[in-house]
This record gives sequence, structure tokens and C-alpha cells, in this order.
Amino acid sequence: MTTLSAALRTAIDGRWAHVRDEARAELDPGRFGPPSGELTLEEYRARVAGQLQELARTGHPTRGLSKELGGQGDFGASVTAFEMLGHADLSLLVKAGVHWGLFGGAVANLGTARHHAAYLPGILSAELPGCFAMTETGHGSDVQALGTTATYDPATDELVVHTPDLAARKDYIGGAARDGRLAAVFAQLVTDGTSHGVHCVLVPIRDDSAEPMPGVTVGDCGPKAGLGGVDNGRLSFDHVRVPRENLLNRYGDIDENGVYTSPIDNPTRRFFTMLGTLVRGRISVAGGAGAATRSALTLAITYAAHRRQFAPPGGDEEVLLLDYRAHQRRLLPALATSYALLFAQNELVSQMHDVQAAGDAAGPLAQRELEARAAGIKALATAHATATIQACREACGGAGYLAVNRLPALRADTDVFTTFEGDNTVLLQLVAKGLLTEYRDTFGNLDTLGMVRFGARRVAGTVIERTAARGLIERLVAAAPGRDAEGVVMHRGWQCAMFEERERHVLDTLALRLRRAGEPDADAFAVFNDAQDHVLAAARAHVDRVVLEAFVAGVASCQDAAARAMLDRLCSLQALSVIEAEKGWFLEHSRITPARSKQVTAAVNALCAQLRPHAQDLVDAFGIPAEWLGTELLDQPAPGTSGPVSS
Ligand SMILES: Cc1cc2nc3c(=O)[nH]c(=O)nc-3n(C[C@H](O)[C@H](O)[C@H](O)COP(=O)(O)OP(=O)(O)OC[C@H]3O[C@@H](n4cnc5c(N)ncnc54)[C@H](O)[C@@H]3O)c2cc1C
Repeated sequence: MTTLSAALRTAIDGRWAHVRDEARAELDPGRFGPPSGELTLEEYRARVAGQLQELARTGHPTRGLSKELGGQGDFGASVTAFEMLGHADLSLLVKAGVHWGLFGGAVANLGTARHHAAYLPGILSAELPGCFAMTETGHGSDVQALGTTATYDPATDELVVHTPDLAARKDYIGGAARDGRLAAVFAQLVTDGTSHGVHCVLVPIRDDSAEPMPGVTVGDCGPKAGLGGVDNGRLSFDHVRVPRENLLNRYGDIDENGVYTSPIDNPTRRFFTMLGTLVRGRISVAGGAGAATRSALTLAITYAAHRRQFAPPGGDEEVLLLDYRAHQRRLLPALATSYALLFAQNELVSQMHDVQAAGDAAGPLAQRELEARAAGIKALATAHATATIQACREACGGAGYLAVNRLPALRADTDVFTTFEGDNTVLLQLVAKGLLTEYRDTFGNLDTLGMVRFGARRVAGTVIERTAARGLIERLVAAAPGRDAEGVVMHRGWQCAMFEERERHVLDTLALRLRRAGEPDADAFAVFNDAQDHVLAAARAHVDRVVLEAFVAGVASCQDAAARAMLDRLCSLQALSVIEAEKGWFLEHSRITPARSKQVTAAVNALCAQLRPHAQDLVDAFGIPAEWLGTELLDQPAPGTSGPVSS
């Protein structure tokens, strides 16, 4: 590792750098890495189930639990350690995320003392493997409309959990097909003929000999596009009875007289408050996607720095792939985005740690900001993973397609990250809704239509939400040279101003457009539906700015001059690549002239050329131990090398 890559690593490792270092030392690929050969589905699942037990023995999962519940209360460390697992086997990452993050998270956050005492020790040690059973065949994104019911029976003081039809069957559930013993089942809670909305109930699904419990039908989703080591399955319940105490009752309870009470009166607000406590899952998926993307970029850039194709006319040495501008264009802007997202993820994890460590004292506004930020970063990071890993696969040619070189598995395993823990399109809509001023302050009193009508009344009220780097950005924007100044595209203030203007304009015009929903007899749903492309554009513009500002703040806080200069260029590449990709919008809205647009493209090319000699340092800074990547790809024979030709 060079001095430069070491300094860069210090800048990007963030607040939990020690956790990253610990993972680098401890995550032995033989124990936690992907399988080296082909395994049957059952063999792969058994392997990952065993790895989960081994992870439990490290004691690290206790970090994610608060001190009051017997854990270490180091939430940021927990999410960072999870992110590092993204360099190992992604099946293990998802298996661990489902068991400790989702299932354990539901028990810890939605349950109360009786559940904590009874279940958390078994969850931490992984002796009680669990499932998080929310999605149904009929509903995945719209989980308020779930069909499973949990009906209180006063005669026996029990809850009767039932699947009324095929659409209400729990589907895709991690752990359901093979290992899960206890499921956190999301169902409509009914007492005395009244539904109180979706709540979570613990339902044993297998007995000690792994047979399904009476009334529980388990199914297997079978082979998937990736994540072969995760046993996704289906669950149906035929009037399955569990004690009333199995209701996770932090936000809604039934007393011994069968009376339902909740500290939150509004059912929509109650439901979103419950979901909000599970925000860590979404942040973890963004982190895992980032790690997998960095593995792919390290492979593709290292390969391109050694692989040669075509000699220039008259030359005897062939050209390195990374010296081709087309190749730089495929990989270096993606590398810049990965850096940007890593800074944004570090900020998000830190924000999450502080909010969760503060508990109720953090207040609802901080919690809502965290949820919106998590939704936006998750959507961007996972979409970036899918696009970049595919680009890396192609950039390695045929070698990129061989399983031994990891890229096919990285691509297949991360593909679904855009869908689970909230589908990206649905998440971006959440981000946009949160941006309409004051809607946030009345959150919970409004359904989608109410939100549209409300948002429509606040036409001129859109604001640029503050980020940690706000003061710095304002100073940079104020110091930007005039729009027509020479070389303005390389000025950080100009770049930031472009991102702000795009966000503000898209948001303002969205609010104007939605105003029609408030007119008498307007079909508010249709108005919102008509504007959905605009809604998504507003969310993307917002998240793009948040991510850029995290990068700008990361550059500013870098202590090493050489590393800071390198990050500065990379940050410009990130900013200008986004402006270039969105140049249609900037030109249509006269934010840039055609001449300025061409300067942006020229600047992206120039930055690629300037960063090319440092590309290896930039990926080495990710600090991914060579043995985790250990593929043939990084060991290409030079022409003239002798050896067995058949292997
Ligand atoms: C491998 C895997 C593991 C999983 N593990 C679990 C688990 O352990 N527990 C669990 O509970 N769930 C799990 N899931 C389920 C996952 O969370 C859902 O698949 C996800 O929430 C999407 O739901 P859906 O599949 O019903 O898609 P849908 O909600 O039907 O969405 C389909 C498409 O429609 C679009 N769409 C939906 N609504 C709108 C709208 N309003 N506007 C515009 N477009 C829209 C979406 O963008 C998407 O492209 C898993 C899924 C997979 C594939």
C-alpha cells in the first residue's frame, strides 16, 4: 500500500475505522468467504447456516443491541461490521441481516421486556433462528394492505393467526424454507371485530426437530437469480393459536380484558412509527451494496491496469486497457460515485448512531430525517451497485464472466438489493413526499391523497434541506466566479450551485403541478400519478445533492494534503459526471449553454486522464485484503509465460 492510498483510506474509513480494520484482520475468506466450487442449494444453505453460527460465536452481533437490552449499544459499529461482510459472501450478509437485523430488530424495537428476556439471548447466539415475515404474495410495497390476520380470542386469551387466501401467503421470507424456528409475522390485528392495522406477532413455525408447527405450512421459493445460500420460503397459517403475550406490544397492546390500547392514536402514524424503528435494515443494505461495488471496482480496475490489448501503429507494446479513454469513462466516474456514496454512507451511519443512542430524546424530526436520508441513499447505492458491477463485468471481458472471478456472483447477489428493504422506485417517492414543506411536520395525519392535497397548498414553500456541510457549501457557492467565467465548471461552488438549482427547480415545479390536486372535484390520485416521473426526478435531484455535499465535506476534512488533492479531483469528476448525465435537463432549463455543456464533457475527459495514474491507489485505498478478492483475474499471465495450458 502506498502512502497515498493509506492516507486516502484514513479519509474514507470514517468514524468506525477500527471496526473496518478488525474485519480486515478477522474475516478469514476460508470461513466467511463465498464457496470455491459449485454447491447444491442444500449444501450452500447449510454452509451459510453454519457461518451464521460462527459469526454468533465472535460476539460481534451484541454491538447492535442497546446496553439496556444486554448489548454494547454501538449501533454504528454494528452497521459498519455488517457493511464489511459485503466483501465476504453476500448470502451470509443477507442471512445475518435477516436474522439479527430484521428478526432481532423487530423483537428488540417492537417488543417489550417480556419478549426481550425470553428471546434476545437465543437470537444473539443464533440458537433461535428467526424470520421476518412481512411481505405477502399479494403485497410487498404496500404493506399496510397485508391480508394475514391476528384475531384476539377472549375465550382462550390467544391470538389466532390466519392466512385467508393465497394472496396473503407470506412470500420470499428469508429463513422460512429451512432454518427458521420463530417468525415475526406482520398481520392485521383484530379485537372484538375491529381492525387496528398491521402489528407484529411472534409465531413458532418449526419445532425442535425442524418439523412445521401444527397449522403452519412452509414452502420453498427454490433457486433464485443469486443469494443461493439464503433459504427464502413461504409461510401460511391455518388458524394458528399463540398466547396474547406473543404480540410485540410496544406500539399497540391488548390487555387481559381484550381491550386494545396504543400510545399512538392515528393508525397510519402508528404503522410508520413501527416501520421507522427498523430503519437500520435499509442503511445496512446500502452499506452492503457499497462494499460489493467496491470489490467489483477493485477487480476491474486492477485487471485493466495489467491487461493489454492492441498495439498502436508502429509500437511493439500493447496498450493497457486502463489507458483507453473509453475504459476510463466506464470505470472512473463510477469509482468517483463509489467514493461519494461511501462518504454519504459514513455520514448516514453516524447520524443513525447518534439518533438511536439518544433514544426518545432524539425527537420525531431527527427520526424522520434519518428515515428519509436512509431511503434516498439506499435507492442510490443499490442502483449504483447494479449498474457498476455490470460495467465491471463487461470491462473484464470474458474473464469477467467466469465464476472463479467473483463478478458474476457479485452481480447476481446484489441485483435484488434494489427491490428488498423497500423497492427503489417506491423509496424515492417517499423521499419526494418528505420534501414537501410542512408535510413533514404533520406526518402521520395524512394518507397519500391527503399529502397531495396538503403539498399542493404549499406551492411556494419548498426548501433546500440542510446537510451537515451546509455552511461550507454556502461559502463555496458564494465564492463561485460568474457563470461565464473561464474554467467555471471546475469550481466547486459552481458545481454545488448547479445541484442546488436543479433540486430547487424540480421541487418547486412539482409542488406547482400538484396544486391541481387541491381544486374542487380534482382526482388527487390521478394528479399525483400523472406527476410520478416528476416526483422521482425531484427525489433523485435531492439525493444527488446530499451525496455530493457529503463528498465535499469529506474532502474538506481530509488531513493529508496529497490525499485531499486527489479527493478534490475525484469529487469534481463525481459532480461533473452527474451534470453531464443530466445535461438534457440543464440545457432545457437554460442552466447551462451548449458551449458550457461541451466544457463539462471535456472536463470529465480531462479528469479521467488526470486520475488514471492514481486509479490503483484509489481502489487500494478501499482496503480490501487481496485474499478476499483472490481470483485468477488478478493473476494474468504475460505473453511468453510458460505453464500448463489446460488448467
Ligand atoms: C431474495 C429476496 C429476499 C426477501 N426477503 C424478505 C424477507 O426476509 N422478509 C420479507 O418480509 N420480505 C422479503 N422480501 C420481499 C421484498 O421486500 C419485496 O419483494 C419488496 O418489498 C417488493 O415487493 P413486491 O415483490 O411485492 O413488488 P411490488 O410491490 O409488486 O412491486 C413491483 C414493481 O412495481 C413497482 N411499484 C409498486 N408500487 C408502485 C407505485 N406506487 N408507483 C410506481 N411503481 C410502483 C415497483 O417499483 C416494482 O418495480 C424478499 C424478496 C426477495 C426477492
